[in-house]
Amino acid sequence: PALPDPSDFLAVDADLSAEERDIRDAVRDYAAAELAPRIAEWYELNSLPRDIAKGLGSLGLLGMHLEGYGCAGTNATSYGLACRELEAVDSGLRSFVSVQGSLAMFAIHRWGSEEHKQQWLPRMATGDALGCFGLTEADAGSDPGSMRTRARRDGDDWVLDGSKMWITNGTLADVAVVWAQTDPDAGSKGIRGFVVPTDTPGFTANEIKHKLSLRASLTAELVLEGVRLPADAVFPEVAGLKGPLSCLNEARYGILWGAVGAARNCYEAALSYAKDREQFGQPIAGFQLTQRKLADMVVAVNQAGLTASRIGRLKDAEQLHPAQVSFGKMANVRAALDVARTARTVLGGNGITLEYPVFRHMTNLETVLTYEGTEEMHALSIGQAVTGIAAFR
Ligand code: FAD
Repeated sequence: PALPDPSDFLAVDADLSAEERDIRDAVRDYAAAELAPRIAEWYELNSLPRDIAKGLGSLGLLGMHLEGYGCAGTNATSYGLACRELEAVDSGLRSFVSVQGSLAMFAIHRWGSEEHKQQWLPRMATGDALGCFGLTEADAGSDPGSMRTRARRDGDDWVLDGSKMWITNGTLADVAVVWAQTDPDAGSKGIRGFVVPTDTPGFTANEIKHKLSLRASLTAELVLEGVRLPADAVFPEVAGLKGPLSCLNEARYGILWGAVGAARNCYEAALSYAKDREQFGQPIAGFQLTQRKLADMVVAVNQAGLTASRIGRLKDAEQLHPAQVSFGKMANVRAALDVARTARTVLGGNGITLEYPVFRHMTNLETVLTYEGTEEMHALSIGQAVTGIAAFR
């Protein structure tokens, strides 16, 4: 047998179909040519140009695993591979695609009326229209059921008041999917989802500055003051937390793949640096302690890759339970953070700069650990699955 590929030690990608491999390569090539050369600048400036959406849309990466309405309709494994290759450049890029495709577009596709779908999905798939997803509030993070944003009826209209915090792409979005508590006396059954064009009077998005993580991604506070919407702005069928949780489950699936990309990129940077950098008259890759780190990183990256690949196949077979998504998100983000921190030590002083990707990934992964369900919440989800006891409260 041939010597293992240092970047795919267990040859996990050998199991991909020809189409999946083509998608992987197309995303990898596009990311290397168009995104990687600019990412350090975007990160440093805390910016992300809106026009990246058009390129991602032309590759079919926006709403990639959705059917119809101009979406690519690929399988889940292909979507995961795209997330992996984007996050190998930066978690902010994968976040952009996750929010557009798995949160905003998925919500409209799964829960919207036919009119919502026709109005928004084709333009969102091309990147001409951008979406955001407003669930979290300043005082309602892990416990979204405690949200304070309210939607009340006024005649046929809905009127929204409240605010949302930490909303990715909030300042870029043309449409916001906003989750709000409705008045039970109006017979409207608790939390409902609303399709809110961001030019509706009373809607404002304020960028959150001074982030030290996920800087190549824009994050906003949304303020809703008397935002008046027509009766049909609400998702017609779904009520309660089931609506937003179904979307989060999709996005978490992309994250567990994405983390593999970030980890792989850190490990590759460390490997290449270790082979070039000489101290005490020899490459630092020749020291046993460095090889131990490289071996630990190879194991972690490949175990995470195997986890993602297995979870992808379960999803394609429609056999994936949310607790298995929690397993993947918790295991792979934790592994990626460990790899990033180890890789950073291999780079010595250079490891703390933007010249190399490692520290950028490491700070990004601190957000990835927290959003879409913190590590603790996913541990509780796994705990509930194996014990039958919910320990959330
Ligand atoms: P909290 O819920 O206050 O948690 C604080 C700590 O308490 C954590 O360690 C948590 O695990 C722990 N904790 C809480 N409850 C329990 C419990 N029962 N048992 C044990 N430990 C517990 N949200 C959106 O809606 N849309 C977005 O687009 C979006 N993008 C984001 C982008 C960024 C950069 C960031 C940082 C966040 C984003 N979020 C978004 C919000 C994100 O999902 C929340 O930050 C996350 O859910 C955690 O909520 P919190 O920050 O309020 O922390």
